[in-house]
Amino acid sequence: MKKIGVLTSGGDAQGMNAAVRSVVRNALNQGIETYAIYEGYQGMVDGGQRIRAIGWNDVGGILQLGGTIIGSARCQRFRERSGRLQAAYNLVQHSIEGLVIIGGDGSLTGAHILQKEWSSLLQELVEQGQITAETAVRFATLAIVGLVGSIDNDMYGTDMTIGADTALHRIVDAIDAITSTAASHQRSFVVEVMGRRCGYLALMSALATGADWVLIPESPPNLDNWEDKMCEVLRKGREVGRRDSIVVVAEGAQDRHGQPITSEYVKQVLETRLGEDTRITVLGHVQRGGAPSAFDRNLSTLLGDDAVNAIQTVEAREEPLVIGIQGNRITRSPLSYCLEKTWGVATAIKERDYEQAMSLRGNSFSETFRIVRTLVRALPHNVLPGQRRLRIAVMHAGGPAPGMNTAVRAAVRLGVDKGHIMMGVYNGFRGLIDGDIHELNWMSVAGFTSRGGAELGTNRTVPEGRDWYAIARNLEEQQIEGILIIGGWAGYESALEIHRQRAIFPAFDIPIVCLPATINNNLPATELSVGADTALNNIAQAVDKIKQSAVASRRTFVVEVMGRYCGYLALMSAMATGAERVYIHEEGVTLKDLVDDVQDLITGFSAGKRLGLIIRNESANEVYNTGFMKSLFEEEGHDLFDVRQAILGHMQQGGDPSPFDRILATRMASRCIRFLEEQIGQPDMMSACIGQLGGEIKFTELQDIPRMMDQQHNRPRQQWWMNLRAIARVLAQPAPREQQDTA
Ligand code: ADP
Repeated sequence: MKKIGVLTSGGDAQGMNAAVRSVVRNALNQGIETYAIYEGYQGMVDGGQRIRAIGWNDVGGILQLGGTIIGSARCQRFRERSGRLQAAYNLVQHSIEGLVIIGGDGSLTGAHILQKEWSSLLQELVEQGQITAETAVRFATLAIVGLVGSIDNDMYGTDMTIGADTALHRIVDAIDAITSTAASHQRSFVVEVMGRRCGYLALMSALATGADWVLIPESPPNLDNWEDKMCEVLRKGREVGRRDSIVVVAEGAQDRHGQPITSEYVKQVLETRLGEDTRITVLGHVQRGGAPSAFDRNLSTLLGDDAVNAIQTVEAREEPLVIGIQGNRITRSPLSYCLEKTWGVATAIKERDYEQAMSLRGNSFSETFRIVRTLVRALPHNVLPGQRRLRIAVMHAGGPAPGMNTAVRAAVRLGVDKGHIMMGVYNGFRGLIDGDIHELNWMSVAGFTSRGGAELGTNRTVPEGRDWYAIARNLEEQQIEGILIIGGWAGYESALEIHRQRAIFPAFDIPIVCLPATINNNLPATELSVGADTALNNIAQAVDKIKQSAVASRRTFVVEVMGRYCGYLALMSAMATGAERVYIHEEGVTLKDLVDDVQDLITGFSAGKRLGLIIRNESANEVYNTGFMKSLFEEEGHDLFDVRQAILGHMQQGGDPSPFDRILATRMASRCIRFLEEQIGQPDMMSACIGQLGGEIKFTELQDIPRMMDQQHNRPRQQWWMNLRAIARVLAQPAPREQQDTA
């Protein structure tokens, strides 16, 4: 394949730029000439200056920009065959053999139709004498690859669409802010979020903010008097001391009969039935705006990389392919299949077949819906006589990670709702040794969802010697039947030790479950830990600012990020910020690397480069540390460029948890409670850690953990993200020689 076109179409979404950058640079890197088709299908129909070659440097500095630099539009003419005929002519004129289309299901429907009609369009162009028969033969097939750009996350074939994570950031920030003003005045707020046929944003933001009620198109309230039910929950909430009431409404919310439920209607209900001062906030286009989240930048980068590989396959010529993500794996699926399933949801909603709509959305959507339904309750279900009531301890261990509180809230509420007695252990293993253990109830975790830090307290204490006796005594005294440890490696190590010593201390013969929470993402049996996404966003935002600060000077930054011996944060933040070099402990640092860097910097700055960015994991190399690198580059850069270091430090651990971390924390906590319920009392009970593996949440037995770990460096032996190094490297390299002059 020699030439491809790339376009963004339909509603814009944050991360589209990162996708364009990735497609352009990966294609150029493989020697494929790339044309930007400006203003989506409109540009394809108009042709002329709207289809232009795009170079390596044209897509520089756009990773952190919202919107799309190549423009997007809605194009009526493309909906008609005559428009598509003109588009086909323009593509052939530019010898474009493949298209990467970044857009929503509408745009991808257009793509599907274009490919189906392709040969007949060429035939018609030949008949009209616009192209020769030889040309028609030469361009007989058009390869098409689609990337789903849509903030709604409404398309089958990918767990996440480009822009959805960022939109959630915007919504969650807004609801967090509204919550504080609502609480001050004891007001009710109705927040309307986007999603005409998809409740993803509404559901996930309700989960992530601890909202009090949510209305989505796929699963309308199953009662005709749902208004009574909603008001009852809100009224009870007030009675037990809740100061704010937030109802999240998806744009397309409807009742069982298919009648729209508008935010205005919800407001009226709250005002008339509860007599509450109620305000509506329609978030609107704020949700589309702003800088893309770290996740959206990296998702787009990975999708763009595979798009360029996929477009060169025979399959893409036969049937458009959708590149998506499942778990952390990039996937390819036939577009027609994905569209069919996507339309299936719309049809199901229209036909009021809500079971079908929910089942098409997938398991994790339904699971989240169930969790939200419990968490929004004002109070737990009453305990029934004779109900099984377990005594479960919840605690942290290791460094603080944003999302720890969210996990505690979910565990406590879901546990209490099932009748269990939830015991909070304060200050990690220190508290378990000292007996600092207190019962937590429904309201004691109110407001925890969005709060950074760790309200229960956490530290890196790992018990030793006589500590075990004290722990055994306290567990016995409190009659603890199972433990949930939310934290990092210190927690896993201690849990393993308790598990090993269960023959010595009968109190230790209980199931333990570890929930991974550390910004470092260095835990075994999970691809992601709670807190890492927030840290990544913290780093990306800081680096964005650092880059801006350098506009007027020729400067190189050496940025040091956390991670201990795990390079995850360094690599993923380098990918999200376009850093040209990343140093991680897994790869080490050699003198030759540094000499090469100096040479690259000198060559780059001599050719007019203005900014250098190097990201370094804190433990990449003890000798060649951040200060050393800075001094070396500074000395060798002479007057050509100066060098600054930025050690980001603890800001990476701070801040309120990102939506993703809140969702992951809640889903994992919910499963952990279920796990403990299943294990407690079993003759062959198991202790385990929970993890996200290949898109699913799974448990791994604690005893299998040691062999998965590189004990010396406290990181897993196998780290899935190590495969991404090559992709990050290609994109951040300087323009290849033949591209140097494309300013
Ligand atoms: P999105 O891609 O965000 O879902 P739209 O539904 O508005 O946005 O679609 C964007 C563009 O894709 C439309 O303006 C039109 O040019 C093209 N398109 C959408 N549906 C079709 C269709 N059925 N046939 C041909 N082109 C279509």
